[in-house]
Amino acid sequence: MININNYEVWFITGSQHLYGEGPLKQVADHAQAITNALNEDSNIHVKVVYKPVMTNAEAIKKLCMAANESDHCVGLIMWMHTFSPAKIWMAGLQILKKPYVHLHTQYNRDIPWSDIDMDFMNLNQSAHGGREFGFMASRLRQNRKVIVGHWQDEEVIRKLAVWSRTACAWHDAQGAKIARFGDNMRNVAVTEGDKVAAQQQMGYDVAGYGVGELANYVNQVKDKDVDHLLEEYKATYQIDKSLQKDKDQYNALKEAARIEIGLKAFLEDGDFKGFTTNFEDLHDLAQLPGLAVQRLMAEGYGFGAEGDWKTAALLRAVKVMGTGLKGGSSFMEDYTYHLEPGNMKVLGAHMLEVCPSLSREKPSLEVHPLSIGGKDDPARLVFSVPTGPGINVSVMDMGNRFRMVANKVNVVEIPSLPNLPVARVPWRPEPDLKKAAEAWIHAGGAHHTAFSMAIGDEYLENFAEMAGIEFLLIDENTSIPDFKKELRWNEMYYHLARGI
Ligand code: MN
Repeated sequence: MININNYEVWFITGSQHLYGEGPLKQVADHAQAITNALNEDSNIHVKVVYKPVMTNAEAIKKLCMAANESDHCVGLIMWMHTFSPAKIWMAGLQILKKPYVHLHTQYNRDIPWSDIDMDFMNLNQSAHGGREFGFMASRLRQNRKVIVGHWQDEEVIRKLAVWSRTACAWHDAQGAKIARFGDNMRNVAVTEGDKVAAQQQMGYDVAGYGVGELANYVNQVKDKDVDHLLEEYKATYQIDKSLQKDKDQYNALKEAARIEIGLKAFLEDGDFKGFTTNFEDLHDLAQLPGLAVQRLMAEGYGFGAEGDWKTAALLRAVKVMGTGLKGGSSFMEDYTYHLEPGNMKVLGAHMLEVCPSLSREKPSLEVHPLSIGGKDDPARLVFSVPTGPGINVSVMDMGNRFRMVANKVNVVEIPSLPNLPVARVPWRPEPDLKKAAEAWIHAGGAHHTAFSMAIGDEYLENFAEMAGIEFLLIDENTSIPDFKKELRWNEMYYHLARGI
Protein backbone atom coordinates (compact mmCIF):
# COMPACT_ATOMS: atom_id res chain seq x y z
CA MET A 1 0.00 0.00 0.00
CA ILE A 2 3.03 2.30 0.02
CA ASN A 3 4.45 3.20 -3.37
CA ILE A 4 7.12 5.87 -3.41
CA ASN A 5 8.52 5.13 -6.84
CA ASN A 6 6.27 7.57 -8.68
CA TYR A 7 7.34 10.52 -6.60
CA GLU A 8 9.53 13.25 -8.05
CA VAL A 9 12.08 15.68 -6.71
CA TRP A 10 12.62 18.67 -8.97
CA PHE A 11 16.18 19.79 -9.67
CA ILE A 12 16.31 23.59 -9.80
CA THR A 13 19.38 25.52 -10.86
CA GLY A 14 19.84 29.21 -10.17
CA SER A 15 21.79 31.66 -12.29
CA GLN A 16 21.28 35.10 -13.88
CA HIS A 17 21.23 36.74 -17.34
CA LEU A 18 24.47 38.68 -16.90
CA TYR A 19 26.60 35.74 -17.98
CA GLY A 20 25.21 35.60 -21.53
CA GLU A 21 23.90 32.64 -23.49
CA GLY A 22 27.14 30.67 -23.78
CA PRO A 23 27.78 30.26 -20.07
CA LEU A 24 24.05 29.73 -19.38
CA LYS A 25 24.09 26.83 -21.84
CA GLN A 26 27.00 25.38 -19.93
CA VAL A 27 25.14 25.86 -16.65
CA ALA A 28 22.19 23.96 -18.12
CA ASP A 29 24.47 21.16 -19.35
CA HIS A 30 26.01 20.80 -15.92
CA ALA A 31 22.58 20.70 -14.25
CA GLN A 32 21.52 18.01 -16.72
CA ALA A 33 24.61 15.97 -15.97
CA ILE A 34 23.98 16.12 -12.21
CA THR A 35 20.30 15.26 -12.68
CA ASN A 36 21.26 12.25 -14.82
CA ALA A 37 23.83 11.08 -12.29
CA LEU A 38 21.31 11.27 -9.44
CA ASN A 39 18.76 9.36 -11.48
CA GLU A 40 21.29 6.64 -12.22
CA ASP A 41 22.26 6.27 -8.57
CA SER A 42 20.44 3.33 -7.00
CA ASN A 43 20.34 5.05 -3.59
CA ILE A 44 18.00 7.73 -4.93
CA HIS A 45 14.63 6.04 -5.37
CA VAL A 46 12.65 9.11 -6.52
CA LYS A 47 12.72 10.48 -10.04
CA VAL A 48 14.91 13.58 -10.19
CA VAL A 49 13.33 15.94 -12.72
CA TYR A 50 15.50 18.50 -14.50
CA LYS A 51 13.98 21.99 -14.71
CA PRO A 52 15.29 24.82 -16.93
CA VAL A 53 17.85 27.18 -15.37
CA MET A 54 16.16 29.96 -13.39
CA THR A 55 17.24 33.52 -14.07
CA ASN A 56 14.27 35.71 -13.17
CA ALA A 57 11.65 36.18 -10.47
CA GLU A 58 8.63 35.46 -12.62
CA ALA A 59 9.88 32.07 -13.79
CA ILE A 60 10.84 31.12 -10.23
CA LYS A 61 7.43 32.04 -8.90
CA LYS A 62 5.71 30.03 -11.64
CA LEU A 63 7.93 27.08 -10.91
CA CYS A 64 7.11 27.20 -7.17
CA MET A 65 3.39 27.40 -7.96
CA ALA A 66 3.71 24.38 -10.25
CA ALA A 67 5.57 22.47 -7.51
CA ASN A 68 2.81 23.29 -5.01
CA GLU A 69 0.20 21.99 -7.46
CA SER A 70 1.99 18.80 -8.44
CA ASP A 71 0.79 15.54 -6.89
CA HIS A 72 4.08 13.86 -7.78
CA CYS A 73 6.56 16.52 -6.68
CA VAL A 74 7.54 15.89 -3.04
CA GLY A 75 10.29 18.48 -2.86
CA LEU A 76 12.90 20.57 -4.65
CA ILE A 77 16.67 20.47 -4.86
CA MET A 78 18.00 24.01 -5.22
CA TRP A 79 21.48 24.56 -6.59
CA MET A 80 23.04 27.94 -7.27
CA HIS A 81 25.48 27.11 -10.04
CA THR A 82 26.54 30.71 -10.42
CA PHE A 83 25.58 33.88 -8.69
CA SER A 84 21.81 34.27 -8.66
CA PRO A 85 20.70 37.49 -6.96
CA ALA A 86 18.44 36.25 -4.21
CA LYS A 87 15.68 38.85 -4.50
CA ILE A 88 14.60 37.00 -7.65
CA TRP A 89 13.97 33.96 -5.37
CA MET A 90 11.97 35.85 -2.80
CA ALA A 91 8.45 35.71 -4.24
CA GLY A 92 8.83 32.04 -5.17
CA LEU A 93 10.21 30.96 -1.81
CA GLN A 94 7.47 32.86 0.00
CA ILE A 95 4.71 30.88 -1.69
CA LEU A 96 6.51 27.53 -1.89
CA LYS A 97 4.71 24.87 0.19
CA LYS A 98 6.95 21.92 -0.65
CA PRO A 99 10.15 21.19 1.30
CA TYR A 100 13.44 21.99 -0.33
CA VAL A 101 17.08 21.11 0.08
CA HIS A 102 19.82 23.56 -0.74
CA LEU A 103 22.50 21.52 -2.48
CA HIS A 104 25.65 23.54 -2.04
CA THR A 105 27.85 21.94 -4.63
CA GLN A 106 30.07 22.89 -7.56
CA TYR A 107 30.20 21.14 -10.91
CA ASN A 108 34.00 20.96 -10.96
CA ARG A 109 35.30 19.08 -7.99
CA ASP A 110 38.90 20.31 -8.08
CA ILE A 111 40.43 23.66 -8.83
CA PRO A 112 42.78 23.17 -11.85
CA TRP A 113 45.59 24.99 -10.09
CA SER A 114 47.95 25.33 -13.04
CA ASP A 115 45.27 26.29 -15.59
CA ILE A 116 42.77 28.28 -13.59
CA ASP A 117 41.71 31.47 -15.37
CA MET A 118 38.80 33.91 -15.25
CA ASP A 119 36.57 31.63 -17.38
CA PHE A 120 36.83 28.96 -14.70
CA MET A 121 36.19 31.55 -12.01
CA ASN A 122 33.07 32.81 -13.82
CA LEU A 123 31.60 29.38 -14.26
CA ASN A 124 32.24 27.95 -10.80
CA GLN A 125 30.58 30.42 -8.49
CA SER A 126 28.56 28.22 -6.15
CA ALA A 127 30.88 29.17 -3.30
CA HIS A 128 29.41 32.68 -3.21
CA GLY A 129 26.20 32.07 -5.22
CA GLY A 130 25.03 29.56 -2.62
CA ARG A 131 25.66 32.05 0.17
CA GLU A 132 23.47 34.69 -1.46
CA PHE A 133 20.66 32.13 -1.71
CA GLY A 134 21.27 30.99 1.86
CA PHE A 135 20.90 34.55 3.11
CA MET A 136 17.46 34.85 1.54
CA ALA A 137 16.26 31.52 2.94
CA SER A 138 17.47 32.53 6.40
CA ARG A 139 16.14 36.07 6.04
CA LEU A 140 12.73 34.51 5.33
CA ARG A 141 13.23 32.22 8.38
CA GLN A 142 12.66 29.13 6.28
CA ASN A 143 13.40 25.59 7.39
CA ARG A 144 15.36 23.74 4.76
CA LYS A 145 18.09 21.15 4.53
CA VAL A 146 21.55 22.27 3.47
CA ILE A 147 23.87 19.65 1.96
CA VAL A 148 27.45 20.63 1.19
CA GLY A 149 29.98 18.75 -0.94
CA HIS A 150 30.71 17.57 -4.46
CA TRP A 151 27.68 16.05 -6.18
CA GLN A 152 29.51 12.75 -6.77
CA ASP A 153 30.54 12.48 -3.12
CA GLU A 154 28.98 9.39 -1.52
CA GLU A 155 27.90 11.21 1.61
CA VAL A 156 26.22 13.97 -0.40
CA ILE A 157 24.25 11.37 -2.37
CA ARG A 158 23.35 9.48 0.81
CA LYS A 159 22.06 12.67 2.41
CA LEU A 160 20.03 13.49 -0.70
CA ALA A 161 18.57 9.98 -0.63
CA VAL A 162 17.61 10.31 3.04
CA TRP A 163 16.11 13.73 2.47
CA SER A 164 14.14 12.51 -0.59
CA ARG A 165 12.67 9.62 1.41
CA THR A 166 11.72 12.03 4.18
CA ALA A 167 10.08 14.33 1.64
CA CYS A 168 8.01 11.34 0.42
CA ALA A 169 6.82 10.70 3.98
CA TRP A 170 5.98 14.36 4.41
CA HIS A 171 4.03 14.37 1.15
CA ASP A 172 2.26 11.17 2.20
CA ALA A 173 1.21 12.76 5.51
CA GLN A 174 -0.48 15.75 3.86
CA GLY A 175 -4.17 14.93 3.87
CA ALA A 176 -3.52 11.42 5.24
CA LYS A 177 -6.50 9.97 7.08
CA ILE A 178 -6.08 8.19 10.40
CA ALA A 179 -9.06 6.17 11.71
CA ARG A 180 -9.56 6.06 15.43
CA PHE A 181 -11.81 3.32 16.78
CA GLY A 182 -13.20 4.66 20.02
CA ASP A 183 -11.39 7.26 22.09
CA ASN A 184 -8.05 6.87 23.80
CA MET A 185 -7.55 4.75 26.89
CA ARG A 186 -9.27 6.41 29.83
CA ASN A 187 -7.08 8.62 32.04
CA VAL A 188 -3.98 8.25 29.88
CA ALA A 189 -2.35 11.65 29.33
CA VAL A 190 0.22 11.33 26.57
CA THR A 191 -2.13 9.84 23.99
CA GLU A 192 -4.28 12.99 24.22
CA GLY A 193 -3.60 16.02 22.08
CA ASP A 194 -4.92 18.73 19.84
CA LYS A 195 -6.01 17.12 16.59
CA VAL A 196 -6.64 20.46 14.91
CA ALA A 197 -3.10 21.57 15.75
CA ALA A 198 -1.77 18.24 14.45
CA GLN A 199 -3.56 18.71 11.14
CA GLN A 200 -2.33 22.29 10.88
CA GLN A 201 1.26 21.37 11.67
CA MET A 202 1.70 17.86 10.27
CA GLY A 203 -1.04 17.58 7.65
CA TYR A 204 -2.86 14.43 8.73
CA ASP A 205 -6.51 14.20 9.66
CA VAL A 206 -7.72 12.05 12.57
CA ALA A 207 -11.34 10.89 12.52
CA GLY A 208 -13.13 8.93 15.23
CA TYR A 209 -15.43 5.93 14.60
CA GLY A 210 -17.55 3.89 16.94
CA VAL A 211 -16.14 0.39 17.26
CA GLY A 212 -19.62 -0.82 16.23
CA GLU A 213 -18.94 0.52 12.73
CA LEU A 214 -15.91 -1.72 12.55
CA ALA A 215 -17.90 -4.63 14.00
CA ASN A 216 -20.42 -4.22 11.14
CA TYR A 217 -17.62 -4.78 8.66
CA VAL A 218 -16.35 -7.78 10.62
CA ASN A 219 -19.82 -9.33 10.81
CA GLN A 220 -20.24 -9.12 7.04
CA VAL A 221 -17.09 -11.11 6.31
CA LYS A 222 -17.83 -14.29 4.35
CA ASP A 223 -16.75 -17.69 5.67
CA LYS A 224 -15.00 -18.58 2.43
CA ASP A 225 -12.82 -15.46 2.74
CA VAL A 226 -11.95 -16.51 6.29
CA ASP A 227 -10.98 -19.98 5.06
CA HIS A 228 -8.85 -18.46 2.34
CA LEU A 229 -7.00 -16.26 4.84
CA LEU A 230 -6.46 -19.22 7.17
CA GLU A 231 -4.70 -20.96 4.29
CA GLU A 232 -2.48 -17.91 3.88
CA TYR A 233 -1.62 -18.01 7.60
CA LYS A 234 -0.72 -21.67 7.27
CA ALA A 235 1.61 -20.93 4.37
CA THR A 236 3.26 -17.95 6.07
CA TYR A 237 3.65 -18.81 9.75
CA GLN A 238 4.52 -21.55 12.18
CA ILE A 239 1.09 -22.55 13.42
CA ASP A 240 0.78 -23.58 17.05
CA LYS A 241 -0.64 -27.10 17.56
CA SER A 242 -3.53 -25.75 19.63
CA LEU A 243 -4.80 -23.93 16.53
CA GLN A 244 -5.44 -27.01 14.39
CA LYS A 245 -8.91 -27.51 13.04
CA ASP A 246 -10.13 -29.93 15.71
CA LYS A 247 -8.60 -28.03 18.64
CA ASP A 248 -10.27 -25.59 21.04
CA GLN A 249 -8.53 -22.47 19.85
CA TYR A 250 -9.27 -22.93 16.15
CA ASN A 251 -12.34 -20.73 16.54
CA ALA A 252 -10.27 -17.96 18.08
CA LEU A 253 -8.00 -18.03 15.05
CA LYS A 254 -10.98 -17.94 12.70
CA GLU A 255 -12.29 -14.93 14.59
CA ALA A 256 -8.92 -13.20 14.28
CA ALA A 257 -9.00 -13.78 10.52
CA ARG A 258 -12.52 -12.39 10.35
CA ILE A 259 -11.41 -9.25 12.23
CA GLU A 260 -8.46 -8.81 9.88
CA ILE A 261 -10.63 -8.96 6.77
CA GLY A 262 -13.23 -6.60 8.23
CA LEU A 263 -10.67 -4.13 9.51
CA LYS A 264 -8.81 -4.08 6.20
CA ALA A 265 -12.05 -3.53 4.27
CA PHE A 266 -12.95 -0.63 6.55
CA LEU A 267 -9.52 0.97 6.09
CA GLU A 268 -9.55 0.48 2.32
CA ASP A 269 -13.07 1.86 1.93
CA GLY A 270 -12.13 5.00 3.84
CA ASP A 271 -8.69 5.34 2.22
CA PHE A 272 -6.99 5.38 5.62
CA LYS A 273 -3.23 5.25 6.11
CA GLY A 274 -3.27 4.46 9.80
CA PHE A 275 -5.56 3.54 12.68
CA THR A 276 -5.83 3.07 16.40
CA THR A 277 -7.60 0.55 18.62
CA ASN A 278 -8.40 0.56 22.32
CA PHE A 279 -8.73 -2.61 24.42
CA GLU A 280 -11.19 -0.76 26.67
CA ASP A 281 -13.57 -0.28 23.79
CA LEU A 282 -14.17 -3.52 21.91
CA HIS A 283 -17.96 -3.80 21.90
CA ASP A 284 -19.13 -6.40 19.40
CA LEU A 285 -15.59 -7.55 18.66
CA ALA A 286 -14.79 -10.98 20.08
CA GLN A 287 -11.13 -10.24 20.79
CA LEU A 288 -8.59 -7.44 20.74
CA PRO A 289 -7.26 -7.16 17.16
CA GLY A 290 -3.69 -8.43 17.56
CA LEU A 291 -2.80 -10.54 14.55
CA ALA A 292 -4.79 -8.20 12.29
CA VAL A 293 -2.93 -5.16 13.57
CA GLN A 294 0.42 -6.90 13.17
CA ARG A 295 -0.30 -7.90 9.58
CA LEU A 296 -1.71 -4.50 8.62
CA MET A 297 1.36 -2.77 10.01
CA ALA A 298 3.48 -5.08 7.85
CA GLU A 299 1.46 -3.90 4.84
CA GLY A 300 2.36 -0.29 5.62
CA TYR A 301 -0.43 1.00 7.86
CA GLY A 302 0.48 3.23 10.77
CA PHE A 303 -0.85 2.00 14.11
CA GLY A 304 -1.22 3.21 17.67
CA ALA A 305 -2.71 1.16 20.52
CA GLU A 306 -4.98 2.65 23.18
CA GLY A 307 -6.17 5.38 20.83
CA ASP A 308 -2.68 6.73 20.23
CA TRP A 309 -3.27 8.58 16.95
CA LYS A 310 0.00 10.56 17.08
CA THR A 311 2.02 7.35 17.10
CA ALA A 312 -0.17 5.86 14.35
CA ALA A 313 0.60 8.82 12.08
CA LEU A 314 4.27 8.79 13.08
CA LEU A 315 4.65 5.08 12.36
CA ARG A 316 3.08 5.55 8.94
CA ALA A 317 5.66 8.26 8.19
CA VAL A 318 8.49 6.01 9.41
CA LYS A 319 7.21 3.20 7.21
CA VAL A 320 7.10 5.46 4.15
CA MET A 321 10.66 6.64 4.79
CA GLY A 322 11.88 3.06 5.21
CA THR A 323 10.07 1.57 2.21
CA GLY A 324 12.31 -0.95 0.47
CA LEU A 325 15.14 -0.55 2.97
CA LYS A 326 16.55 -3.41 5.02
CA GLY A 327 14.93 -3.73 8.46
CA GLY A 328 11.40 -3.32 9.75
CA SER A 329 9.46 -0.69 11.69
CA SER A 330 6.77 -1.12 14.32
CA PHE A 331 4.60 0.35 17.00
CA MET A 332 6.54 -0.21 20.23
CA GLU A 333 6.57 0.32 23.96
CA ASP A 334 9.38 0.27 26.51
CA TYR A 335 7.88 -2.66 28.38
CA THR A 336 10.20 -3.91 31.09
CA TYR A 337 13.77 -3.33 32.29
CA HIS A 338 16.81 -5.48 32.95
CA LEU A 339 18.75 -3.41 35.49
CA GLU A 340 21.80 -5.61 36.04
CA PRO A 341 24.76 -3.29 36.65
CA GLY A 342 26.88 -2.99 33.51
CA ASN A 343 24.35 -4.87 31.41
CA MET A 344 21.20 -2.78 31.52
CA LYS A 345 18.67 -3.10 28.76
CA VAL A 346 15.05 -2.64 27.84
CA LEU A 347 12.68 -5.31 26.66
CA GLY A 348 10.40 -3.67 24.13
CA ALA A 349 7.02 -5.22 23.29
CA HIS A 350 3.32 -4.51 23.54
CA MET A 351 0.28 -6.54 24.53
CA LEU A 352 0.26 -8.02 21.01
CA GLU A 353 0.93 -5.38 18.42
CA VAL A 354 4.51 -5.64 17.17
CA CYS A 355 5.03 -5.58 13.40
CA PRO A 356 6.42 -8.79 11.84
CA SER A 357 8.47 -6.69 9.39
CA LEU A 358 11.01 -6.81 12.24
CA SER A 359 11.05 -10.60 12.54
CA ARG A 360 14.26 -12.54 12.03
CA GLU A 361 12.44 -15.85 11.69
CA LYS A 362 9.19 -17.36 10.54
CA PRO A 363 6.79 -15.92 13.16
CA SER A 364 4.84 -18.33 15.32
CA LEU A 365 1.05 -17.88 15.25
CA GLU A 366 -0.41 -18.49 18.71
CA VAL A 367 -3.52 -17.83 20.80
CA HIS A 368 -3.15 -17.00 24.50
CA PRO A 369 -5.23 -15.23 27.14
CA LEU A 370 -4.85 -11.47 27.50
CA SER A 371 -4.95 -10.52 31.16
CA ILE A 372 -6.86 -7.26 30.56
CA GLY A 373 -9.91 -6.26 28.54
CA GLY A 374 -12.20 -9.16 29.45
CA LYS A 375 -12.54 -10.46 25.89
CA ASP A 376 -11.76 -13.79 24.22
CA ASP A 377 -8.16 -14.95 23.92
CA PRO A 378 -6.57 -13.13 20.98
CA ALA A 379 -4.30 -14.48 18.24
CA ARG A 380 -0.86 -12.97 17.77
CA LEU A 381 2.44 -13.51 15.98
CA VAL A 382 5.37 -14.29 18.26
CA PHE A 383 8.95 -13.70 17.07
CA SER A 384 12.35 -12.18 17.87
CA VAL A 385 14.25 -9.59 15.84
CA PRO A 386 17.82 -9.48 14.52
CA THR A 387 20.51 -7.58 16.44
CA GLY A 388 21.74 -4.23 15.17
CA PRO A 389 21.11 -0.50 15.38
CA GLY A 390 17.58 0.84 15.77
CA ILE A 391 15.77 3.96 16.84
CA ASN A 392 12.76 4.81 18.99
CA VAL A 393 10.81 7.97 18.27
CA SER A 394 7.71 9.57 19.71
CA VAL A 395 5.75 12.78 19.23
CA MET A 396 4.05 14.52 22.13
CA ASP A 397 1.68 17.47 22.31
CA MET A 398 3.37 19.81 24.82
CA GLY A 399 0.44 22.20 24.91
CA ASN A 400 2.00 24.95 22.82
CA ARG A 401 3.82 22.75 20.29
CA PHE A 402 4.58 19.24 19.16
CA ARG A 403 7.85 17.72 20.30
CA MET A 404 9.59 14.81 18.61
CA VAL A 405 12.07 12.89 20.72
CA ALA A 406 14.23 10.08 19.38
CA ASN A 407 16.67 7.68 21.02
CA LYS A 408 19.27 5.62 19.20
CA VAL A 409 19.39 2.04 20.48
CA ASN A 410 21.18 -1.23 19.73
CA VAL A 411 19.16 -4.40 19.56
CA VAL A 412 21.00 -7.10 21.49
CA GLU A 413 20.95 -10.86 21.87
CA ILE A 414 19.09 -12.32 24.86
CA PRO A 415 18.37 -15.86 26.09
CA SER A 416 15.29 -17.56 24.63
CA LEU A 417 11.98 -16.68 26.28
CA PRO A 418 9.88 -19.86 26.11
CA ASN A 419 7.12 -18.50 28.38
CA LEU A 420 6.63 -15.09 26.81
CA PRO A 421 3.87 -15.26 24.17
CA VAL A 422 4.47 -11.89 22.47
CA ALA A 423 6.92 -10.52 19.91
CA ARG A 424 9.74 -8.69 21.65
CA VAL A 425 12.79 -6.53 21.03
CA PRO A 426 15.62 -6.25 23.58
CA TRP A 427 17.77 -3.15 23.20
CA ARG A 428 20.48 -1.17 24.90
CA PRO A 429 19.79 2.54 24.51
CA GLU A 430 22.48 5.12 23.70
CA PRO A 431 24.39 6.43 25.55
CA ASP A 432 23.23 3.97 28.25
CA LEU A 433 19.92 3.06 29.83
CA LYS A 434 20.29 5.40 32.82
CA LYS A 435 21.08 8.51 30.79
CA ALA A 436 18.69 7.63 27.96
CA ALA A 437 15.73 7.10 30.27
CA GLU A 438 16.59 10.18 32.33
CA ALA A 439 16.75 12.37 29.22
CA TRP A 440 13.60 10.77 27.73
CA ILE A 441 11.68 11.41 30.95
CA HIS A 442 12.86 15.02 31.23
CA ALA A 443 11.67 15.47 27.64
CA GLY A 444 8.26 14.06 28.54
CA GLY A 445 8.81 11.31 25.95
CA ALA A 446 5.82 9.01 25.49
CA HIS A 447 5.73 5.35 26.55
CA HIS A 448 4.62 4.49 23.01
CA THR A 449 7.06 4.87 20.14
CA ALA A 450 7.60 4.10 16.51
CA PHE A 451 10.60 1.77 16.51
CA SER A 452 12.65 1.26 13.37
CA MET A 453 15.64 -0.71 12.21
CA ALA A 454 15.21 0.66 8.67
CA ILE A 455 15.75 4.38 9.21
CA GLY A 456 17.88 6.53 11.52
CA ASP A 457 17.93 9.89 13.25
CA GLU A 458 18.73 11.92 10.14
CA TYR A 459 15.37 10.98 8.59
CA LEU A 460 13.54 12.02 11.74
CA GLU A 461 15.41 15.29 12.06
CA ASN A 462 14.57 16.09 8.42
CA PHE A 463 10.93 15.23 9.06
CA ALA A 464 10.71 17.41 12.17
CA GLU A 465 12.22 20.29 10.20
CA MET A 466 9.73 19.86 7.37
CA ALA A 467 6.92 19.89 9.93
CA GLY A 468 8.44 22.76 11.90
CA ILE A 469 8.23 20.82 15.16
CA GLU A 470 10.78 20.48 17.95
CA PHE A 471 13.36 17.69 17.58
CA LEU A 472 15.38 16.18 20.41
CA LEU A 473 17.88 13.38 19.89
CA ILE A 474 19.26 11.14 22.63
CA ASP A 475 22.38 9.46 21.27
CA GLU A 476 25.95 8.49 22.17
CA ASN A 477 26.83 12.16 22.72
CA THR A 478 23.97 13.04 25.07
CA SER A 479 24.95 14.62 28.36
CA ILE A 480 22.18 15.25 30.85
CA PRO A 481 23.22 18.81 31.85
CA ASP A 482 23.36 19.84 28.17
CA PHE A 483 20.09 18.09 27.37
CA LYS A 484 18.34 19.90 30.22
CA LYS A 485 19.68 23.20 28.93
CA GLU A 486 18.40 22.37 25.45
CA LEU A 487 14.95 21.73 26.92
CA ARG A 488 14.95 25.08 28.72
CA TRP A 489 16.19 26.99 25.69
CA ASN A 490 13.66 25.29 23.46
CA GLU A 491 10.85 26.30 25.83
CA MET A 492 11.87 29.89 25.22
CA TYR A 493 12.40 29.52 21.49
CA TYR A 494 9.07 27.85 20.79
CA HIS A 495 7.23 30.27 23.04
CA LEU A 496 8.66 33.20 21.10
CA ALA A 497 8.51 31.58 17.66
CA ARG A 498 4.83 30.81 18.06
CA GLY A 499 3.89 34.48 18.39
CA ILE A 500 0.28 35.24 19.14
MN1 MN B 1 0.43 0.74 25.31
